[in-house]
Amino acid sequence: MICYLYEAPKYFFFASDLPQLLYYSHFPAIVISLVVGFFVLLNGPKKLTNRLLFLITVLFSLWVLLSLISWTNTSASLISFIWPFFGVIKTILTILCVYFIYTFLNKGEDVSSAVKTVFLLLLAPVLIFAPTDLSIKGFDLVNCDAFAYEVMYFKYYYTTISYIAIFWIFTLLIKAYKKADGDFKKQIILMGTGMELFLFMFVTFIFIVTYYTNIGVLADSRLEMYGLFGQVAFMVILSILIVKFKTFQTSLISAKALVIALLLLIASQLTFADNASSVVLTILTLLLTTVTGLFLIKSVEKEIKQKSELQKITTQLELANRRLKEVDQLKSEFVSIASHQLRSPLTAIRGYASMVLEESYGKIPDKARIAIKRIEDSSKLMALGIEDYLNVSRIESGNMKYVLSDFNLKNETEKICDDLRTEAMEQGLVLIFRTDLKSKGIVNADIGKTVQIVQNLIQNSIKYTVKGSIKVLVRDDVVRKKIHVDIEDTGIGMSSETLEKIFQKFERASNANSVNVSGTGLGLYVAIKMAEAMNGDISAHSEGDGKGSRFTFTLNLAM
Ligand code: ADP
Repeated sequence: MICYLYEAPKYFFFASDLPQLLYYSHFPAIVISLVVGFFVLLNGPKKLTNRLLFLITVLFSLWVLLSLISWTNTSASLISFIWPFFGVIKTILTILCVYFIYTFLNKGEDVSSAVKTVFLLLLAPVLIFAPTDLSIKGFDLVNCDAFAYEVMYFKYYYTTISYIAIFWIFTLLIKAYKKADGDFKKQIILMGTGMELFLFMFVTFIFIVTYYTNIGVLADSRLEMYGLFGQVAFMVILSILIVKFKTFQTSLISAKALVIALLLLIASQLTFADNASSVVLTILTLLLTTVTGLFLIKSVEKEIKQKSELQKITTQLELANRRLKEVDQLKSEFVSIASHQLRSPLTAIRGYASMVLEESYGKIPDKARIAIKRIEDSSKLMALGIEDYLNVSRIESGNMKYVLSDFNLKNETEKICDDLRTEAMEQGLVLIFRTDLKSKGIVNADIGKTVQIVQNLIQNSIKYTVKGSIKVLVRDDVVRKKIHVDIEDTGIGMSSETLEKIFQKFERASNANSVNVSGTGLGLYVAIKMAEAMNGDISAHSEGDGKGSRFTFTLNLAM
């Protein structure tokens, strides 16, 4: 039976007197959906996420196709047969969207059978009542639609399910977003926006428009066509996900193919569009998609190039790093062996020199005494240097052992000052020891290493000070549980460039030699490494060359 108001259509899809927007909204929605759907399916036919997305695009296209038929056809029996399918398809579609989002967020894993049961329970009433007159009660032969005969409970039910689905998806996305990191966060935002936009527009527009048509406020439901644009937006977002984030694991070539196919599709709209507004809309969409597509492909190409360059550099770096480590290891071994070999003859030289000086082998003339004293002094310096090398190789090979115990840092520092005062005085320097303590000054550290550090810092001050004084101050900060030993001198000072490097291996200031030639540039390196190993630190301060220096050695108070 043909509806009264209309003539029989000349062609199946092209009846006269149709809203112009129809061709713009329905055709691209179907074709773009199917292209993206097939594309995703072909890229992973066995993956659940891909299959679900494909099913969504097919169901959506089916809905649009049925809508197109109901707009263009005038056969009452055909349209009244189609009518209940709108609700059925929409409900299956929204539930599939929830299913899809679940698997997308769980990286392809299927949902539990409990969740599947909930899906089925929600769907069951729609499937059961759709074929009965509890979904539609009749047909309007004049207007060729069934709006006035839709059973509202049925319609409210499936619309509510759609909103439940939208809310469900939203909570899933928020939960996953909080746990996700980096790129996946961005993918969740894109996928979430696309999916929610699509569902919300699809459900809301169609519900409101058909409701108002039903109660007679709107003459027909042509406004529902705007609801379909959400799907096109979703498909564009999906292509961004596919091309940029490789969400469905595509290669660049197939991503390019997808963008080109979308462009061709939209362009082919121009051949159908027989009115100005459709032409303008199509051209606008075409321009927008071209710009987005080009931008996407460019950015992906750039990313791929950068990645491969980075990969190359990383491999080179890894190689260089490995070689460096090998060389460093060899060097440490060499230093260790060489130092041990040097130490024994040196001990013999020192021992004999001091025995000769003590005249254990008989009287020595004064001239010879001066020479032998030099031998003793130089071999002492050499022994110290060798000790530095040995310490470096121990630190670098991780063989430095620390024996921790509680001891009084103030007392130890005072003893060191007493020992070194003569050495300072020989150079015409005053060595002053002071304290400013609220605690007893107890630390838990390796006593030998601690003494070595303080000694080294004071000896450096003696070495690098020509005249004036060296002040040693032990102070504490009971709130922060720290104890500090400040060693302040009136020596050659340090420029800011020197300050930056003195704690590195073999680094000496350019003016260091002018004052004191003996030195390896290892003392501070060894000292800071040992301090750090005992949870302490050393810092250096100077106003500049010639303006004196202040070194601060810090340890934790053991209270
Ligand atoms: P070394 O004294 O054997 O050269 P260090 O590692 O102990 O090696 O010190 C590194 C450099 O730091 C020294 O060469 C010197 O330039 C600078 N330096 C250390 N202590 C002082 C100080 N008290 N005053 C000025 N410069 C110093």
